[in-house]
Amino acid sequence: MAQADIALIGLAVMGQNLILNMNDHGFVVCAFNRTVSKVDDFLANEAKGTKVVGAHSLEEMVSKLKKPRRIILLVKAGQAVDDFIVKLVPLLEAGDIIIDGGNSEYRDTTRRCQDLKAKGILFVGSGVSGGEDGARYGPSLMPGGNKEAWPHIKTIFQSIAAKVGTGEPCCDWVGDEGAGHFVKMVHNGIEYGDMQLICEAYHLMKDVLGMEHDEMAKVFEEWNKTELDSFLIEITANILKFQDSDGQHLLPKIRDSAGQKGTGKWTAISALEYGVPVTLIGEAVFARCLSSLKDERIQASKKLVGPPKTKFGGDKKLFLEDIRKALYASKIISYTQGFMLLHQAAKEFGWTLNYGGIALMWRGGCIIRSVFLGKIKDAFDRNPQLQNLLLDDFFKTAVQNCQDSWRRAISTGVQAGIPMPCFTTALSFYDGYRHEMLPANLIQAQRDYFGAHTYELLAKPGHFIHTNWTGHG
Ligand code: NAP
Repeated sequence: MAQADIALIGLAVMGQNLILNMNDHGFVVCAFNRTVSKVDDFLANEAKGTKVVGAHSLEEMVSKLKKPRRIILLVKAGQAVDDFIVKLVPLLEAGDIIIDGGNSEYRDTTRRCQDLKAKGILFVGSGVSGGEDGARYGPSLMPGGNKEAWPHIKTIFQSIAAKVGTGEPCCDWVGDEGAGHFVKMVHNGIEYGDMQLICEAYHLMKDVLGMEHDEMAKVFEEWNKTELDSFLIEITANILKFQDSDGQHLLPKIRDSAGQKGTGKWTAISALEYGVPVTLIGEAVFARCLSSLKDERIQASKKLVGPPKTKFGGDKKLFLEDIRKALYASKIISYTQGFMLLHQAAKEFGWTLNYGGIALMWRGGCIIRSVFLGKIKDAFDRNPQLQNLLLDDFFKTAVQNCQDSWRRAISTGVQAGIPMPCFTTALSFYDGYRHEMLPANLIQAQRDYFGAHTYELLAKPGHFIHTNWTGHG
């Protein structure tokens, strides 16, 4: 009997939690998994006492669904998604909906969307962020794909999503084809940037100011009451003060070699592909790569010298404020760059993206959730056509107010030999973006000199000429 509102395939951590979340909101969910024994395990344990139903085959699952059928896939990204789609299509009717909630590559989502459209099936690729807890109690959801599906899934999606402010859901329709997964990818890239920026602040506190872990934890707690109020600053304070079973702080015992699963790298690759200077996320990815060369760094540390170690001679309180402002200004640059990439992708693929809506989707539920994202939403509400966040009055003034501190934090760190790839690239971007004239005239001249690539005169735009720079024939 058709009784279930929606089906979910994939009973790993994300799938189980999302099912329980949907159940809490009154939806009847039918659970299925490739390894079918996990369905019974789930019904007998985590889902015991709920309205969740199970299926032991895809046929049984489909028969239990109300029409149009709604099926969420939360399986390993890649081939597993295609395999399930191939098996599902013969069991479905035109107008039924398949939703991929995994971390799929946006191009795969575009391809699936087009293939399924030709078969009359509506496909949605949705970014899901917030990890296990988010899935259970309110994730940030970023759905995109075939918009005809949206009216049929909107109520479920917006009910289970995180809420901010006066109950606004962190979920709205993102755009066509792979737009939802593209936005999720940029979200993950921004997450890499935010994490690296916090690490650079920590490095300056630890090695320039010589601060102890509990003291640094207190500073992050204080920062969490400022414009930096965010999940990542909050957990950083908790991590800094966390003590191991031996009473020692755990953080300094952790091997300084960062892992990565690839979504930061995808963002950086897209930035290069579409020619957008998303330098901060790129540097954040490279910082993880450099950190992973631990054994090489151990060797190098014995041979390569930096500046002599000196005791910080300035005012510690003032310098901490400089670091805080450097972090805030750099964060503004990172989000500016992330939205530049979204703008370019929209142009490239003909998507209509709701930038304020995207900021709201990230405002709660996900790893980069912060009060700051509310300011970005406000900026796009003020001007939905805003070309660049830095040109919004609020952000323009915010960066201006941070500027002296930002430059002082960086120059002090450089003098002390502290690597700050994201603080410095953010400032370079700001200085580059605000310059009417950059030295790229020389690049054009060099290209024309050695390769006759031609150049344009400022006075004659659109008119390309070549000069015989050497006088040789
Ligand atoms: P996962 O470990 O990525 O995937 C496990 C699930 O995929 C299981 O249901 C497994 O079935 C199924 N699966 C794996 N290979 C398969 C194949 N070849 N054919 C059919 N099914 C296959 O699970 P997860 O961590 O819950 O993540 C699910 C999705 O959400 C992934 O795309 C992940 O990237 C994304 N995501 C995860 C998080 C997170 O915090 N974990 C956050 C956001 C998004 P069996 O039980 O039969 O092996």
